[in-house]
Amino acid sequence: MPSAPQDTVVESTRSVCPKCLLAIDATIVAHDDLVLLRKRCPTHGKFEVLLSSDSRMYLDSLPFNKPGQKPLGFSTEVKEAVLRIAAFARNTDNIPA
Ligand SMILES: [Zn+2]
Repeated sequence: MPSAPQDTVVESTRSVCPKCLLAIDATIVAHDDLVLLRKRCPTHGKFEVLLSSDSRMYLDSLPFNKPGQKPLGFSTEVKEAVLRIAAFARNTDNIPA
């Protein structure tokens, strides 16, 4: 009988709750051939996001990742959610009211 696929933790990271946009801890795991982002909001519970359906390609691409940067400009109106995510990316608490 084949064994159940094991989760392999790829890395720990930060993400946002899709409902309240709270910055929360998240874990990227390889599960069989899939790569998943798992996160848990204290208010809204657990979420799982598919990052890749090809774990080999995802893992091979990791050395080429580079940290995100603030765009030089915005071509559309900036709304609160975008500002909250941008503040999260800058790792600050400077979120507009
Ligand atoms: Zn939440």
